[in-house]
Amino acid sequence: MRLSELTTLRLGGPAGRYVEASCEEEVVEAVRAADAAGEPLLLLSGGSNLVVADAGFPGTVLRIATRGVTREAAGASVTLEVAAGEPWDPLVAACVADGLAGVECLAGIPGSVGATPIQNVGAYGQEVAETIAAVRVLDRGTGAVEELGPQDCGFTYRSSAFKREPGRWVVLTVRLQLQRSRLSSPVRYAELARALGVELGSRAPLAEAREAVLALRRGKGMVLDDADPDTRSAGSFFTNPILDRDGYAALRQRLRSGLEPPSWPEGDGRVKTSAAWLIERAGFHRGDGDPDGIAISTKHTLALTNRGHGTTTQLLALAHEIAGGVHDAFGVDLMPEPVLVGHAWEPVSPSR
Ligand SMILES: Cc1cc2nc3c(=O)[nH]c(=O)nc-3n(C[C@H](O)[C@H](O)[C@H](O)COP(=O)(O)OP(=O)(O)OC[C@H]3O[C@@H](n4cnc5c(N)ncnc54)[C@H](O)[C@@H]3O)c2cc1C
Repeated sequence: MRLSELTTLRLGGPAGRYVEASCEEEVVEAVRAADAAGEPLLLLSGGSNLVVADAGFPGTVLRIATRGVTREAAGASVTLEVAAGEPWDPLVAACVADGLAGVECLAGIPGSVGATPIQNVGAYGQEVAETIAAVRVLDRGTGAVEELGPQDCGFTYRSSAFKREPGRWVVLTVRLQLQRSRLSSPVRYAELARALGVELGSRAPLAEAREAVLALRRGKGMVLDDADPDTRSAGSFFTNPILDRDGYAALRQRLRSGLEPPSWPEGDGRVKTSAAWLIERAGFHRGDGDPDGIAISTKHTLALTNRGHGTTTQLLALAHEIAGGVHDAFGVDLMPEPVLVGHAWEPVSPSR
């Protein structure tokens, strides 16, 4: 099995061994067998956040394809216990149709439910951490199945304990706590509020919020579509940089007068700014690259796409060129959002 068949970038060489697990017992058995044999193990589900080397993966690739949702209602809230392999976007659609608020702004994100805690998926002002009540995991360190509460998961912007300690935990189920409501959660993202015609911080009808998010995402090539090469990506390639006070002041100083970077205060003195904005001002444009290979999406500068004949080596070369350009222009280091397999990201050194 080639990993290019399992990733949304359609990149990645052969798997040493490929196993697909459709029930929890099979997942646990496959992980324990690989660990007992001392074989490297790559967990994968939707393959939408993975950049796999052209050389492939020299061990077991385990695709988690478990299914099942159980539902428990208590007053105004409903708790769903969802198998890791359930596809995320259909779950969001079902929640919205069922009048359950809390994940409507995360519509259109590809991949599985079990991967959502890994990078604490987020979009349009919402993060999955806000609704996760617990994550059931297999701890490969101890071999035990246990439950982690939100505190144990260590969620931060596009990260978590799972991402910081890769490979330690296998997510088996995710417990989401949602609110019964005909209205969305308060809209926190200006572009979405404008699309919905509501004030920032107010609510919109639940289904309208989901539809507006999907429409905004389609416009940026951020909803998977076989017919649209702009969606052959891993989503945003870079996270938005979070700068400390000095770093942000230095960035403002380097900008031409009159230019003000987008900024979202983190509440602790640090400021998050926009990777896409920096990339564009460093001289990179939508569509730059090889129109038949690796190129920046024609709809969104933050997405790197494989338009047919690209390789992972070329993708990472373009990513490094962009990160280098941003560093040279603004002194800001961009970090990749997807998980790299078979490659390590080399931050741009100050001396280059
Ligand atoms: C077009 C597009 C748009 C996107 N938009 C967004 C967005 O708006 N916001 C956002 O946050 N992300 C976005 N993403 C990224 C991606 O969809 C999410 O990160 C998603 O949660 C990945 O799910 P997956 O099942 O595809 O994970 P995979 O790519 O299969 O795996 C990702 C990582 O999670 C690990 N993993 C997967 N399943 C498990 C498990 N059960 N237990 C332990 N580890 C596991 C893998 O080992 C790997 O390290 C986008 C991607 C694409 C292609």
